[in-house]
Amino acid sequence: MRGLVHNKSFFAMWLLVLGALAGCSGGVSKGTLVSTQQEYAQAAEALKPGDTIVLASGNWQDFEILFEGVGSAEQPITLTAEEPGKTIITGKSNLRLAGEHLLVSGLVFKHGYTPTDSVISFRKNSKELANHSRVAEVVIDSFNNPERFEPDYWVAMYGKHNRFDHNHLEGKRNKGVTMAVRLNDEASRENFHRIDHNYFGPRPILGSNGGETLRIGTSHYSRSNSNTLVENNYFDRCDGELEIISNKSGSNIFRGNVFYQSRGTLTLRHGHDNLLENNIFFGNNADHTGGLRVINKRQTIRNNYMEALKGYRFGGALVVMNGVPNGPINRYDPVEDALIENNTLVESDHIQLGAGSDSERSAPPVRTRFANNLIVNSDKRDTFTLYDDMSGIKFIGNLLNEVANPAIERGFSSHTIELKRADNGLLYPVDAAFEGAGVSRDLTVIDKSDTGVAWYPKATATIEFGSGNQIPVSPEYGALAAAVAAAKPGDTLQLAAGHYQVASIIELDKPLTVRAEGDAHIEFERQALFEIAEGGSIELIGLNISGASSPDYVGNSVIRTSRYSMLRNYRVRVENCHVTDLQVNRGFNFMSVAKSTMANNIEIVNSQFSDISGDLLKLNAETDNYGIYNAEYVTISNSSFNNIQGSLVNYYRGGTDESTFGPHFTLVDSELSNVGLGSKNTAKAAIYLHGVQVAQISGNQFKSSAPISVEHTVGEPITRITDNLFDNTQWPSVTELFYLSDQHTAIISGNQQTNSDVQEGDE
Ligand code: CA
Repeated sequence: MRGLVHNKSFFAMWLLVLGALAGCSGGVSKGTLVSTQQEYAQAAEALKPGDTIVLASGNWQDFEILFEGVGSAEQPITLTAEEPGKTIITGKSNLRLAGEHLLVSGLVFKHGYTPTDSVISFRKNSKELANHSRVAEVVIDSFNNPERFEPDYWVAMYGKHNRFDHNHLEGKRNKGVTMAVRLNDEASRENFHRIDHNYFGPRPILGSNGGETLRIGTSHYSRSNSNTLVENNYFDRCDGELEIISNKSGSNIFRGNVFYQSRGTLTLRHGHDNLLENNIFFGNNADHTGGLRVINKRQTIRNNYMEALKGYRFGGALVVMNGVPNGPINRYDPVEDALIENNTLVESDHIQLGAGSDSERSAPPVRTRFANNLIVNSDKRDTFTLYDDMSGIKFIGNLLNEVANPAIERGFSSHTIELKRADNGLLYPVDAAFEGAGVSRDLTVIDKSDTGVAWYPKATATIEFGSGNQIPVSPEYGALAAAVAAAKPGDTLQLAAGHYQVASIIELDKPLTVRAEGDAHIEFERQALFEIAEGGSIELIGLNISGASSPDYVGNSVIRTSRYSMLRNYRVRVENCHVTDLQVNRGFNFMSVAKSTMANNIEIVNSQFSDISGDLLKLNAETDNYGIYNAEYVTISNSSFNNIQGSLVNYYRGGTDESTFGPHFTLVDSELSNVGLGSKNTAKAAIYLHGVQVAQISGNQFKSSAPISVEHTVGEPITRITDNLFDNTQWPSVTELFYLSDQHTAIISGNQQTNSDVQEGDE
């Protein structure tokens, strides 16, 4: 009950509810226990101040709850569960509140999704809103539309003076902001909502725009004030896209929130006069973990703590943007009169000033104060990047750790700064002389257990490959498929030596490892060996896989995803495997994916592939050019590829959207021979990367293969093609599709071309 202890009024109200339940038997005025939707409808018909409806424990299927009434501050109208956490709302269900002084608590939404645009809406329709109402201790867990790109909100706040607190929202996997504060008419602006003590649990990488965890306002109403308080919430691995929070309105307060290992930033995208203080960012050195991004007027950034944030560019630890002078409402307003003081940034990679500076965003920050900040990196690196004239920022009293030649000379002093972790879990200088810079000693870090509810478990870590039991499998008919079906998530199937003839497609709905214990050979008789279904992931170790028994159809694959939309991201890992003879028909791929599926990781190490008629990795199912793609990280190392008619990887992210960090591609220390030259290979490339954001191709040998073809789209992509040998192989081609320039931005260096009767390239 820790979550409730510091919330006396709610605790008192709960006692009142319980007392009402104990004290009367089915009385209409207080504590009406209902067990069916008809009983609910009757009880909810004419609610009076002080009334309580109690939903019986159990599953409520396909229940669209309308909770409507006018209570009073002293006597709210309550909708609650017979026992917190035991009333489960499932199927096509939602909750709408309309009226005044309503309170909802104790419900769990899971195993379903909303048929409308939100799961919980603080309105009945565009005219009838909820005010002075509260939703507390409610859980929404993986309540996702099965179509990954069918958008909805989990919570849409309308009206005024509403509170959303101590709720648990975890596992949003379909498109759409997890929680939105809507300002679309006067009745919802200047709203003074409170959003506090919520647990925003993991939101996996969406691979598209629309993966924000919280948004307040939209650009249309961004010059309106929202006056929303966002306080003491815990954001746990909220990785959806590059905005964890998208603030698009004025006069909001973000205070005392913890961002734990979340990719992206709290972005002050639109709106003026916002206050960000006492927020904590723990990046744990995870990719793309960021802090705060500052845009617009009179923003105050004070006493925030950032540690081990790896993000760069707009996703850095602290980013102050350049703006568009007199720009339209949906562009970047210049930073004016910002106050950035007493923040601590430890072991965080990037502080960016004037970020985004270009011919349009030409206005650097003005009348801005950057004071008493503490910036410590043990590697003594200068983390500042200045993209424009920063004379509009006054730098005063900032402390740096032994930076030799700081980018900014005035207003910084450089010392040897030793840090020690204090009882609150944060790092402070040991030397008392440095007091005064960085965050205050009394900054409190809200504990995860003080957010959400005590009666619903918070998200655990991803189940790692090899974390479960070892299960021996012998090469009898059907044994492998049976072992997969019986295994538990994380288990390892240990294949004894022998020939495994697989007659059906093996569907995976959990993470499993298949490891050869001896000389194990697999052939398969259907169009795929493994199909990754919802929840599935696979690791293959030490196997010999042949396509010799596969049917004579076009488009076979060793691994493929479900052909339908998948909400859960998956992982594929291949180590020490030999894969050969995938050529019974054209377009035989090692791996292929369907639209609306997403791999977090595809990794190939120490493996050999030969004689393949299609692509090794066919990752080009998203062809709508909406900025959607099929895999976040593809990493290949120490492997060889021989005689592949398609591409090693055909990796496509189309469109101009800039809301994602990926895709990422790495190919190192590998050998390609006769790859990409098949007549059916429309990419005409050994490696085809379109819209990939980060690519590293280094230390490889390309022999008698098609060239590398890279097409840069938006978002300042980083491509490094270094120290490769191109033997009888054309030079890489890099094309800028959106930035008109004579020069592409890829780094191509240290490569060698030999034995070439082909033409010299453009280096
Ligand atoms: Ca966005």
